[in-house]
Amino acid sequence: MIDLKDFSYKELEDFLVDMGEKKFRAAQIFKWLHLGVTDYDEMTDLSKALREKLRQISYVSVLEIEQKFVSKLDGTVKYLFRLPDGNCIESVVMRYHHGLTICISSQIGCRMGCRFCASTIGGLYRSLTAGEILNQVIFAEKDMGERISNIVLMGIGEPLDNYDNVLKFIHNVNNEKGKNIGLRHITLSTCGVVPGIYKLADENLPITLTISLHAPNDTIRDSIMPVNHKYKIAELIEACKYYTDKTNRRLSFEYSLIHGVNDSIKNADELARLVKPLRAHVNLIPVNKVEERDFKKGSREEINAFLERLTERGVNATIRRELGSDISASCGQLRKKAREITEE
Ligand code: SAH
Repeated sequence: MIDLKDFSYKELEDFLVDMGEKKFRAAQIFKWLHLGVTDYDEMTDLSKALREKLRQISYVSVLEIEQKFVSKLDGTVKYLFRLPDGNCIESVVMRYHHGLTICISSQIGCRMGCRFCASTIGGLYRSLTAGEILNQVIFAEKDMGERISNIVLMGIGEPLDNYDNVLKFIHNVNNEKGKNIGLRHITLSTCGVVPGIYKLADENLPITLTISLHAPNDTIRDSIMPVNHKYKIAELIEACKYYTDKTNRRLSFEYSLIHGVNDSIKNADELARLVKPLRAHVNLIPVNKVEERDFKKGSREEINAFLERLTERGVNATIRRELGSDISASCGQLRKKAREITEE
């Protein structure tokens, strides 16, 4: 059986034409899918016969809300969604002055192994399909009853390790017949899968690319991010240059400040040297505590001193505002808990 949400728009058209239907049916079905309709009988502009035919060879996938947490501090909503195969993923909806942003997952687990990250602890279970990635937007929006205008691929998983499905998702969610979310409102975050960055650059899409750098030199990066054994910082920066030249989009770097590991003033100087030629923005994130990991954040003063040093060196940097801190909104932690409970 085929999940209709795993088709690109063109594939959906071809599928319908092969069934002996007219092409325009694709637009009708695509619209319903993106509205979160899951029962063919609710697709009221399709004939009964077509609905029946569709039911026999395809299905509309769903995500169930397993748990939902609403932050009392800032209204951030965190969903633990259950997939039809029993696995759980997380998505977080944040409220900014320009609208709702959803942070979504691209895989169940992750095989990148970053030492400070909760998502990677059990390794990779599997990648999400294009439909499953999209469903997070569809079902969060349906539940919130409000339009989601921005998407960040910064939840569980490494999006460039699930390249084809992520790309299909981006095109589908951008399609004006569906959610119509502008490419400039979509951000993809990667730990630095270099070949994926080149490939993405060649797609020439005006999405925003964010690199999880977290270290200013190879010694530190090797010790906290195994991906660095494969692609060194120099290669990563080279790929970033290619990306900005090709797409004319400025990129940004994520830098989690881990006390005693990467947060000295010397590290700030090294970081400034690295990112300045790219005119990139640096997002500083005081590292979130993960139970199994022994990483701590520095004091407010230390974090501010790091920021000030970067600014003095001419780098455009900010400290990431922590949202939903009362519901542990940063990804990976809830799914891990849910797995532990199911496995007990
Ligand atoms: N795999 C992608 C996207 C998922 S992680 C990537 O690496 O970019 C989303 C962001 O959260 C990344 O920048 C990641 O490094 C960061 N992150 C993971 N665990 C963290 C923690 N404990 N504290 C702060 N940031 C963390």
